[in-house]
Amino acid sequence: MKFQAPKGVSEYFPERSIAFEKVRRELISPAKLAGYKLLELPVFEDTEVFTRGVGESTDVVSKEMYTFEDRGGRSITLRPEGTAGVMRAVIEHGLDRGQLPVKVWYAGPFFRAERPQAGRYRQFYQVGIEAIGLDDPAIDAEVIAIAEAGYRNLGLTKFRLDITSLGDSASRAAHREVLVKYISKLDLDEATRARVELNPLRLFDDKRENVVKMMADAPLLIDYLTPQSAAHFEKVKKYLDKLSIRYAINPRMVRGLDYYTGTAFEFVHELLGAQSGLGGGGRYDGLMESLGGQNLSGIGFGLGIDRTLLACEAEGIDLTSQSRPDLYVIPLGEEAKDFSIKFIDDLRKNGAIVDCAYGDRALKGAMKGADKSGAKFAIVIGDSEISSGIGELKNMETGVTSSVTLSAINSKSFN
Ligand code: AMP
Repeated sequence: MKFQAPKGVSEYFPERSIAFEKVRRELISPAKLAGYKLLELPVFEDTEVFTRGVGESTDVVSKEMYTFEDRGGRSITLRPEGTAGVMRAVIEHGLDRGQLPVKVWYAGPFFRAERPQAGRYRQFYQVGIEAIGLDDPAIDAEVIAIAEAGYRNLGLTKFRLDITSLGDSASRAAHREVLVKYISKLDLDEATRARVELNPLRLFDDKRENVVKMMADAPLLIDYLTPQSAAHFEKVKKYLDKLSIRYAINPRMVRGLDYYTGTAFEFVHELLGAQSGLGGGGRYDGLMESLGGQNLSGIGFGLGIDRTLLACEAEGIDLTSQSRPDLYVIPLGEEAKDFSIKFIDDLRKNGAIVDCAYGDRALKGAMKGADKSGAKFAIVIGDSEISSGIGELKNMETGVTSSVTLSAINSKSFN
C-alpha cells in the first residue's frame, strides 16, 4: 500500500524546506524589531469563534471551513485564519488589561477547503501580527511597513501594495444605503442575492465577468467616508509617504473576511498569476466586542508563506545557499572517527555547519558524499592527520587544497 498526502495540502522537504523556513523567518523578523511577541495558539477553536468573528457572508465561513464534531459532541473548526483565534485568546487571558496596544505575532498552518490549484492549498501557512487597542493611524502604517519590510528582506521587488479604507460603521451605513439601491436594480441569481443581503460589499469581490460589468458604476465606499474616517486614512497615507512606502489606492478592494473596518491593504505579486495575493490585512474595530470582549480596535495582517516562497522563486531569488555545509569531514578508520566526532562537535559549537561521512565509507564513496552535500570544504582525517595534527582542507569549488593545523580550524576558516 502506498499512501499519499491528503488532496491539496502544501508540503516542504529539502531543499525547498530550507527556503520555506527562511521565508517564515524573514517575514517575522521585522515584527520582532517592532516589539511584537509570540502567541502560540491551537490550530482548532470552537466553531463559533469563526462564524461570529469572520462572518457568515464570507466564502471562508460559508464554504471553506473544516468543521467537525469532536468526541465530546462539540463543534470544532480547524482555523481558517488567525485573527479571530488571537482575539479569543486575548480576551480569555486578559492580555488587553495591560499596556495598549497588545502586540503579538503568530505563524503556523491554516485550513480552508478550497479548490486546490497553484498557490492555493487546503493546508497553507501564514505569518501574522495583530496590534490591539490603539486607534492611532501611525500603528496602521507600522503594521503595513512591517509586512513590506519582510518582503524587502527577502529581496522581492515585483509586488505592489493596494490600500483603501472600508470606513467606520457610520461610513458603511451611508454607503450601504446607496449600494443596496444600486444592487436592487441588478439582475442577480438567488444565491448571490442572499449573500448580498448579509454583506452587499461582497459583490465587489465577485470575479464573474457579468457581475464585474454590472458593478462597474457601483458607488464606492471610499466616497462615503465620514470626516473622521477620511482624516484617519489621510494620516495613514501621510505616514506611508514618510516611510517611502509606495502604494496604490484601490477603492474596489474588499477583504475576504467580514470583520475589516477602516484601513485595509493587500500585497499583490506581479508574477503569480491567478493566486497573486501575497498577504493582506486591515483594521477590525468591532471584532473584539463581537467576540465578547471590550470594545477595543485592532489592526493586523496575515501573510501567506507558501505564496511568498512562490514569489521568491518566480523572481529567481535563491534562499537555500546559506544552508550549505561549511565543511564535510571524512574520517578513515576507527581512531579517526573517535577524533572526528569531537572535532565536528567543537566546530558546530563554534557556529560552523558541518556534516560527516558516517557509516565507515571508503574514501571514494565518501568523497562523492562530500560533493553531493554541497559543502564548501572537505577534509580527510586518517591516522597521519591525527599524529601530525595537520590536514588538507579542500575547497570543493576550486579543487584547491591547503595545509591547515586541525586545532586552528574554526568557523572563520570557511569564509
Ligand atoms: P486572507 O487571510 O484570506 O487575507 O489571506 C492572507 C494570505 O494568506 C493570502 O494573501 C495568501 O497569501 C494566503 N492564503 C490564503 N488562503 C490561501 C490558500 N488557500 N492557499 C495558500 N495561501 C493562502
